Amino acid sequence: MNALEREIRTLIEAQGPLEVSRYMALCLAHPEYGYYTTRDPFGTGGDFTTAPEISQMFGELIGLWCAEVWRLMGSPSRIALVEAGPGRGTLMKDALRAAKVMPGFLDAVELHLVETSPVLQERQRENLHGTVSSIAWHGDAKTLPGAPLIAIGNEFVDALPIDQFEKKADRWHERKIGLGAEGDFAFGLDPSLLPDFEKRLPQRLTPAPNGAVFERRDLSPVAEIVSRIGRNGGAALFIDYGHAESGFGDTLQAVSGQDYAEPLEAPGEIDLTSHVDFEALAALARGTVRAIGPVTQRDFLKQLGIEARAEILRRNVKDEIRAEITISLERLTGPAPGMGELFKALAFAHKDLPPLPGFDGAKVSGKG
Ligand code: SAH
Repeated sequence: MNALEREIRTLIEAQGPLEVSRYMALCLAHPEYGYYTTRDPFGTGGDFTTAPEISQMFGELIGLWCAEVWRLMGSPSRIALVEAGPGRGTLMKDALRAAKVMPGFLDAVELHLVETSPVLQERQRENLHGTVSSIAWHGDAKTLPGAPLIAIGNEFVDALPIDQFEKKADRWHERKIGLGAEGDFAFGLDPSLLPDFEKRLPQRLTPAPNGAVFERRDLSPVAEIVSRIGRNGGAALFIDYGHAESGFGDTLQAVSGQDYAEPLEAPGEIDLTSHVDFEALAALARGTVRAIGPVTQRDFLKQLGIEARAEILRRNVKDEIRAEITISLERLTGPAPGMGELFKALAFAHKDLPPLPGFDGAKVSGKG
């Protein structure tokens, strides 16, 4: 039994079963034993590989997207460029290198990185050294400046804690994590009833069948960004895996060593995420800004020109590197096991901005 497991057990013995969000937050961000607090989990030798770690093309295209959004904003002399959950800083490094083609953009950039993990903050510091003159770190999105901003977040939202609710015998209960018969962690339903729960679900999902599980995420870091865009201008781009519309299902998943693991085993040593509900994410725009999308990662990257970029990279390189570029392109844009369809992009934009690159034909909701 590891130290975090002992600590969570003591908590459950003292206070009763924990909300899924509480468990997830402890596993990912416990100040001493949390998964992200203690390690750099990315890359081929690590637990999982994200799009920017697969290919430089991903960050480059997002860099060009940011530079173009800045131009569409009227090329302001200062812009807060925000990344939520930058991981190793790979995406931002590729983005800033590519964005050099837009005259004046890098000189305008003040970089703000929202990152809870001290280990990853250090990796970001090393990786981004010498890119732009001003870089600030924030442990919480609440301290971001109240200025026009362009924000990005790749696989950030999936790591934000969720709560789970289940309908049983026609009544809704919260799913919690307690101690099972053998003293191990186990899921169970809190006996208290949630009589108004179903009224707050999208109407097309009601009446919900027995056995339905609904997940609700604490999106407050994204809400902080969206409210700044509404007040001060700018746009944000979130890319993640998940479903375009709200639905039922237990999607909490654990990954370790590039493979699926048991979510309640080895707390703090495995990654815990769950599918992003893009309908709930887009709803943050309501009355404040426009939400655009989601579109599939394939459509987004293709519209930004990933195929032409791959073609340029394939010139003048050895055969094996040429083959690697082709494989990366397929991983980023192809159907499962590729990321092209499961992963989606959603943007938020101030109402004064014209349509954003990468989102031709996308659904627009919210204000304006
Ligand atoms: N964007 C990177 C990393 C994705 S993993 C990539 O694509 O490779 C999730 C990242 O979000 C990690 O950097 C993790 O430390 C950070 N993170 C998770 N929850 C957070 C929170 N509540 N606030 C700030 N950062 C968080």
